[in-house]
Amino acid sequence: MEKLQQKIIEEGVALSDTVLKVDKFLNHQIDPQLMHEIGKEFVKRFENKKITKIVTLESSGIAPAVMAGLILDVPVVFARKKKSLTLKDGLITSTVYSYTKQETNEISVAEKFLSKDDHVLIIDDFLANGQAALALIDIVEKTNAEVTGIGIVIEKAFQDGGDILRNKGYQIESLARIKSLGNKSIEFVSEKEY
Ligand code: 5GP
Repeated sequence: MEKLQQKIIEEGVALSDTVLKVDKFLNHQIDPQLMHEIGKEFVKRFENKKITKIVTLESSGIAPAVMAGLILDVPVVFARKKKSLTLKDGLITSTVYSYTKQETNEISVAEKFLSKDDHVLIIDDFLANGQAALALIDIVEKTNAEVTGIGIVIEKAFQDGGDILRNKGYQIESLARIKSLGNKSIEFVSEKEY
């Protein structure tokens, strides 16, 4: 997605050769116009698929997920990273291992928000090693709902997650695929290499 790549070039900061900071438009301050474009692009990429619900992970997946949900007119459910006072029972949980933080965290969704009749589009901000996406898939599949596909705003294609998920047969649509990060340069996978 050209506009997104342009935004990453203009406002993204490569903190190291593995971590990209995009707090000017996605991870802290949010660019609503860009999120709207992202929502439309997700809808286009999954246009022949049945989608009854979108599942994402708090907090940075919520903005792009809500835009897609608005266009598709389906509810958006975000998995919580912390247990809330009002969300204790009837939870479906899974664990996410973070390579960057080297810790395992539990994420959860209230089971009442997913059913076996749902066709779920999973959306997240980043795909790195695939652990967050795998945990979201696990939650959806524990309810016997179907994972229709996975929409990612930024995939770091030099990490394993994309291959792991594609090898499992899921349709993954990443709107920007980064080939390499480093020394203040951000290189994208060209469309031909997809
Ligand atoms: P994974 O589970 O695929 O290894 O990592 C995906 C999750 O880690 C995303 O939900 C995202 O929040 C975070 N993440 C991974 N890499 C980056 C990165 O380079 N920049 C930012 N801002 N978040 C990242």
